[in-house]
Amino acid sequence: MESYDVIVVGAGPGGSTAAAYLGRSGFSVLLLDKAKFPRDKICGDAVSGKSMNVIKEFGLEEEIRKDPRHGSIFGVAFSGTNGEIVEIPFAAAKEKGRPPGYTLPRIATDNILFQNAKKYAKVKEGFAVSDVIFEDGYAVGVKGRDTVSGKDEEYRAKMIVGADGVGSIVANKAGQGALPPEHACIALRAYYEGIEGMTNNIEIHFVKEAMPGYFWIFPIGEGKANVGLGILMKDVQEKKMNLPLLLEKIIKENKIFAPRFANSKRVSPVQSWTLPFGSKIRKSHGNGWVLVGDSASLVDPFSGEGVGNATTSAKIAAKIIAGALKENNFSEEYLSQYQVEMEAALKPELQTSYMLQKLGRQEWLLNFIIGKAHKSEKVRETLSAMLGSEEAKKEFASPLFYVKMLFA
Ligand SMILES: Cc1cc2nc3c(=O)[nH]c(=O)nc-3n(C[C@H](O)[C@H](O)[C@H](O)COP(=O)(O)OP(=O)(O)OC[C@H]3O[C@@H](n4cnc5c(N)ncnc54)[C@H](O)[C@@H]3O)c2cc1C
Repeated sequence: MESYDVIVVGAGPGGSTAAAYLGRSGFSVLLLDKAKFPRDKICGDAVSGKSMNVIKEFGLEEEIRKDPRHGSIFGVAFSGTNGEIVEIPFAAAKEKGRPPGYTLPRIATDNILFQNAKKYAKVKEGFAVSDVIFEDGYAVGVKGRDTVSGKDEEYRAKMIVGADGVGSIVANKAGQGALPPEHACIALRAYYEGIEGMTNNIEIHFVKEAMPGYFWIFPIGEGKANVGLGILMKDVQEKKMNLPLLLEKIIKENKIFAPRFANSKRVSPVQSWTLPFGSKIRKSHGNGWVLVGDSASLVDPFSGEGVGNATTSAKIAAKIIAGALKENNFSEEYLSQYQVEMEAALKPELQTSYMLQKLGRQEWLLNFIIGKAHKSEKVRETLSAMLGSEEAKKEFASPLFYVKMLFA
């Protein structure tokens, strides 16, 4: 039976990042994925600044820029339920000749990260993990099936990384429970061509029909756009919402969007997926195992972004696992350093976003802020600075901010 220092289950952004860092540090790594790359992932395709950190560290930014499917993003346009729109440019540190943000279909982004991981780790595509092997309370390997040969196989390692997304087998076998519907979101995505009025902004629209969720239009390359809708799972269940019908209604009947979509063409199926929100982070470590990215439930509960948190958590996990391998200590106690460091890095922002998600449910408040920003350049500048800095974003939580807005 083949044996490794580390087995990484799932080769999305989280798994490919963990495998690349660990392999680059000289450890033997087996990276497993049930899919064959390049593979699609239902997503909004926004590549945030946080996602860019790991991409830049491995020198992969040019791979994005040279892909004709990418979009260069300079800001965000918000609209409230009354239809008022405000455009906020990204104030994030501008590098000469570089846009502050990108979009790129995940079929491309994930392949860039996967091909990078292949330089440092042994990979096996088309291998669906079905079980985690535990011995004396420690995770020591995985079982699964080679989907091409149909053969069942087992692999062993000192450490198992669960990077297998929202339906994580590793989390499940390690006893981590189901997603609470108040901490998860259901989202739909489809690609369109020929939408009128596209700019270099990603667009987030709080339309009446979809409240308390939002409708998005994200420009990508080649004249296309990623269009979608995301709503808290609890609301979808309680209100028995039919999201595909809702998306169609917005596109065909909403008085602002129907004209923009009148000459458009949908060029992909409408597909849905679940986002595990980091308003409730999972216990992400135990004897011989850790979880990263969606399997640890780390998606931003306001923006829906999860790629940056997947790569950030994977980088931290790789550092702690490297220490565990050097000290030959794979105990839950040792690996708790991962949970501590990961939460220190991500939790403050996740909590601010959770608070924003709750405020966003107040239609009048959303319309009030968007209306103020629409009228005042100073307010737009303030919001731009707040969106660009984790520290400044916390101001959203302060009642003083809203009092200031009254007089802005
Ligand atoms: C509609 C939608 C829009 C979104 N928009 C954005 C956005 O614009 N920007 C952003 O940053 N984030 C966005 N997200 C969130 C983002 O997609 C996730 O947070 C991100 O993909 C997490 O990466 P990951 O590596 O943890 O998991 P994944 O990307 O889900 O990767 C998991 C991998 O594990 C593999 N796998 C699963 N089970 C097994 C198994 N049993 N055996 C072997 N392999 C397995 C899968 O094939 C997959 O390759 C969006 C999500 C949705 C649903």
